[in-house]
Amino acid sequence: MTPDLEIRDLAYRYPDGTEALRGVSFALAQGECVGLVGPNGAGKSTLLMHLNGLLPEAWNGREHVFIHGTPLGRKTLYDARRQVGFLFQDPNDQLFCPTVFEDVAFGPRQFGLDEAQVTQRVAQALAQVEMTGFEERPPYHLSAGQKRRVCLAGVLACAPSILVLDEPTHSLDPRGRRELKALLRRIPLTKLLATHDLELVVELCPRVIVLDQGQVVADGPTVELLMDEQLMLRHHLERPHILMHRHPHGA
Ligand code: ADP
Repeated sequence: MTPDLEIRDLAYRYPDGTEALRGVSFALAQGECVGLVGPNGAGKSTLLMHLNGLLPEAWNGREHVFIHGTPLGRKTLYDARRQVGFLFQDPNDQLFCPTVFEDVAFGPRQFGLDEAQVTQRVAQALAQVEMTGFEERPPYHLSAGQKRRVCLAGVLACAPSILVLDEPTHSLDPRGRRELKALLRRIPLTKLLATHDLELVVELCPRVIVLDQGQVVADGPTVELLMDEQLMLRHHLERPHILMHRHPHGA
């Protein structure tokens, strides 16, 4: 079956010569939830930017990113942006309207839905993130966790098939983190979750991809890989506490 998302031999060098990605390949099957981890500077953000075509100068005529089998390029960018929903690290980059309703409605309106459809999408998305009733509130007065959920509603309102999340638990308190985790678990989309929060990866992602110095250095079952002390140390990561008392192959 065609993967929902496939990266084939993706390389990228910034204009100053920094080699950020060196031959990255992996594929996500429909419904998979995969963690993308690695130390600072590993290339996670650069990789995520390629999934949304945010680095157009990288398009050198060759095809490296495939969304449901369709190569991402100038002509397919619009469709790709409908398919791939992005949750950015900082909610303040995603929220810019005077009310929650307007913010969540922004994406569907961009895609040309009429107002009745937009209203329906917003209601559905707010219900999905348990923020019904906040429609007229200004987003900048919400808590960090609520802001994050409104951002997620804005992404879901565009009805993507793939969700890409950049540090979704960044700056959340334990309750905000717990609520977001429960929501993400309930969203049945294909998910790629880039994070330093290895506990979150253990809790949500059966599979993890470890990136270091622009290369995939491991790709496999989360518990097995994150329990591997040598692998973790080699790539400046730490075995998450949640796995401290687990055996790699079982209970
Ligand atoms: P991560 O998200 O895993 O921390 P990044 O994708 O931000 O990694 O960075 C990968 C590499 O690219 C690092 O060496 C980083 O210093 C470099 N880099 C990131 N952004 C730029 C940029 N705008 N110009 C030059 N080098 C950059």
